[in-house]
Parts: sequence; structure tokens; C-alpha cells
Amino acid sequence: MVKGTGVAKAAAEIADDEGNSVAIQMGLLGDEWNLLIIRLALLGVRRYNEWYEQLGIANSVLTARLRALSEAGVLTRVRYQDRPARHEYHLTEIGLDLWPVLLTLWWWEAEWAGEHVEPLPPMVHLECGEQFSPVLHCASCRRPADLADVSGVFGPSGSFERSAPRATTRRRSSSVASAGPGLFPETIALIGNRWSSATLAAAFFGCRRFTDFLQATLAPPTIVSDRLRVFCDMGVLTPVASASGSSRVEYRLTEKGRAFFPHMVTSLCWGDRWYRAPEGPAVIFTHKECKRIFDPVLYCSACDKELQRSKIGVGGLPLYGG
Ligand SMILES: [Zn+2]
Ligand SMILES: [Zn+2]
Repeated sequence: MVKGTGVAKAAAEIADDEGNSVAIQMGLLGDEWNLLIIRLALLGVRRYNEWYEQLGIANSVLTARLRALSEAGVLTRVRYQDRPARHEYHLTEIGLDLWPVLLTLWWWEAEWAGEHVEPLPPMVHLECGEQFSPVLHCASCRRPADLADVSGVFGPSGSFERSAPRATTRRRSSSVASAGPGLFPETIALIGNRWSSATLAAAFFGCRRFTDFLQATLAPPTIVSDRLRVFCDMGVLTPVASASGSSRVEYRLTEKGRAFFPHMVTSLCWGDRWYRAPEGPAVIFTHKECKRIFDPVLYCSACDKELQRSKIGVGGLPLYGG
């Protein structure tokens, strides 16, 4: 189970109520405003007005997101002044642990997604002074690992049904649903709603044919065909003639799709660390080379050392705690 802190306990209660760690993680991170709030928090923002001014976000949307992130144990509300009473939001241990999730996302967006409203800030490894890409390695044997080197199976709390994202903010604040500011449009197209993330996860779990996706996602056929079409348009999947020689089409992850794997695996492992259901993990990853449980760590592409949160600068600012 998660570490015995108060916030972790709150997180565990969500896990017990609402489904497995994948569902909770995707519900939290498949929301552009949440991603942007966490991004600024990692860069040191703590006060309501700073998010409000920097994001151009509606008050009702910001209030709902801060509440949802606090209920999930990602942020904690801290009083910093008594008269009048004023509060700020600090990243908890759970929130601070999101830095590899955000780092792999920034990298994928910068490297693979087109048409940003504004360019993403460069990431610098403060230890070597170079701009870098995060490179996925295995925490057990320390060797590099990509999608082809890692196998994933459902664990005791895993199934596609239990993994459908919980829309944490939508449920509590349907009146303030918001399309988001469009800074991560491709990411949101991939993971921004339950059917998209379920379809993408199915592709990473080896689904190839339309019928595989139908069975895996339990989604209506029209939705599955729509998601597959969107992913093909984005260049994340590509249709190829079935190997069996029939006229059927198979959908394969492209290089752009496979490049999303570091983000997907760091997200799933983050979810499992903090929101694991009582009966066990939702997904179990194995590193094929060393045959041990695969736990991701990130290395610097420039100097080949393991990245630490305090040694990363984004847009000239050190990450939280740096
Ligand atoms: Zn290994
Ligand atoms: Zn470096």
C-alpha cells in the first residue's frame, strides 16, 4: 500500500471508492487544466492569483481544479496568513513525484506534436548544463528500455473496465467544463477522455485489429472507429494490411505513438505508487532483459546520468525544491 502519510491515506480512499489506479491517474492527468496547474506548481507557483494570472483561467474552473487536485492528495492547502486568512497550495509528496510524468510529456509535445500556441520552454540538465531529452531506463538493472523491451500485463486490480478514467473534475463541476487553453492539444486528443485513453492503452497492450479494440475498450463501435481514425490522422497509429492475408486492416503504433511510451509508463507507475487498490497493482511491467519488475527512471540524453528533480531547469527556472 502507499506510504503512511495523511495525503496518501486520502488518496487510498479515492482508490477504494472509484476504481483502480489507472482510472484515477487518467482522470487526473487527462485534463489539460490539471496538467497546466501542476506544471506551474512544479515551477514554484503556490498561490491562487498566480495560477489565475498566468493561465488566464476562469475562477470557477481554477477553484474546481484546485479542489480536485487537493482531494486527490496532489496539492495541500496551507494557511500562510491569519488576518485575513489566506491559503496557498503546496505540492505534496504525491505531487512532487509527478515531475517525471510532466517531463516526459513536455518532451513528447516538444518533439512530436505540432502547432503549439507558444513554444514549450527548453529543459536544461543543471548538472551538465546541456539541453536534454529524458531517456527511459530500468531502475533494477539501470539499462535503457523502450516499448519493445518492456511487457505489461494487468495485475490483480487491472482490467479495461476498471481502468476507464474517472472524470474527477467533470463529476464535481459539470457546470464549469472547459475545453482548456490548447497548449497540449495532441496530448489531450490522446488521453483527454476515457475512450481515447482506453483506445491508446489498448494499442500499447498489443491490440491490432478493430475487434481487439472493441473487446478491450468495451466502447461502442462508432466510438472505436472514430478514435482509431483520429489517431491515424495524428500519425500515432497507422493502418496496415493484416498479416493473415485477409482484407482486414491492423492498426500499428507509429514511431510518434511509441514515443509516447515513456509518458504512459511513468504515468501508470506514478498512479500505482500512490493509488494502488487494496488487492494489488492494476498493471505489472516487466523488463524483458533483466526479467525484473520494470520501474522507470529517467536519464539525461546529454550526459547519460540519472535525472533528479532538483537538477532540472525549465525555461530558466529550477523545478520545485531545486
Ligand atoms: Zn532491467
Ligand atoms: Zn546531463
